[in-house]
Amino acid sequence: MTGIDDLPVRDELLGKSPYGAPQLDVPVRLNTNENPYPLPEPLVERIAERVREAARNLNRYPDRDAVELRTQLAKYLTDTSGYQVGLANVWAANGSNEVIQQLLQTFGGPGRTAIGFEPSYSMHGLISRGTGTGWISGPRNDDFTIDVEAARQAIAEHRPDVVFITTPNNPTGNAVPPETVLALFEAAQAAKPSMVVVDEAYIEFSHGDSLLPLLEGRPNLVISRTMSKAFGAAGLRLGYLAAHPAVVDAVQLVRLPYHLSAVTQATALAALEHTDTLLGYVEQLKAERDRLVTELLAIGYEVTASDANFVQFGRFDDAQAVWRKILDRGVLVRDNGVPGWLRVTAGTPAENDAFLDAVRELKKEQS
Ligand code: PMP
Repeated sequence: MTGIDDLPVRDELLGKSPYGAPQLDVPVRLNTNENPYPLPEPLVERIAERVREAARNLNRYPDRDAVELRTQLAKYLTDTSGYQVGLANVWAANGSNEVIQQLLQTFGGPGRTAIGFEPSYSMHGLISRGTGTGWISGPRNDDFTIDVEAARQAIAEHRPDVVFITTPNNPTGNAVPPETVLALFEAAQAAKPSMVVVDEAYIEFSHGDSLLPLLEGRPNLVISRTMSKAFGAAGLRLGYLAAHPAVVDAVQLVRLPYHLSAVTQATALAALEHTDTLLGYVEQLKAERDRLVTELLAIGYEVTASDANFVQFGRFDDAQAVWRKILDRGVLVRDNGVPGWLRVTAGTPAENDAFLDAVRELKKEQS
């Protein structure tokens, strides 16, 4: 049978697997860091209204620059961080994955490299490869914090063009202290200079603050965000970045014309009108995340401190076997390939109870 590797695909794609969190039909799905709360009905109505309006103009291309949407995203960032950003600082695309892709198409590419400190978000490496950017796997400590000295050394040695720092980190959940981000930023500037992309996909769930204020006076810094998690809109596909206006101008060199559909723009604008309600769910999820940490520790598992809407727990001799046993109890969690650890997304209280019951049972079986 003909497979991918029999086709004349680019060398760097040979033998690779696509991103593939299983989408299984089980009662409790806590594997992809989604928000468990469906959008509230008044917001669903507002989306329908806004999309109806947009539908009347679907014979035309959408606003290529998504001006109204970027203005509202800038307002959201300013309101929630206290750091003033405007339309010129914000760019939006189909999920933060596309934001990352556009950044790599702009600042990475053939003959260039990007570094991330792993385990971290696997798509940084995959999108790097997909854009012809060489990928460098930087180190992390055993407790999943970033060893500043080791990271500095890796940056000095490899002189990457793009540095990814994910905070809170996925899949481990821990936040990166601002001093570490600054130290790595300085190291990256001394080595090249390069672009530093801070992936804040989960920042709304953090005990700490966004690093947006670090943008001041740093045109080589980018903060990437998404509506997939805190806004409960993973299906919408809306990611965005905040940076110096020159970065926003630069990514427009690679974006496809009219990449953000009028339907996407209308839906995202409706969701932003309901920011307060959606951020209310975030508060509930943070409380549930903290409850998961407390309960997992009480049961006797090890847990990585979490600032995200998920918790990494372990340790297991065979994480894949435990993943399967939890699945047999109707709960889907994630094996991210971090040896000895699994990851559970904070769901509704009932979903989290189902998960906790399953892992409590497993612990009893083991002892
Ligand atoms: N960054 C991180 C750290 C993530 O975990 C994810 C999604 N799992 C993304 C970016 C991409 O999110 P999206 O494309 O849905 O915005």
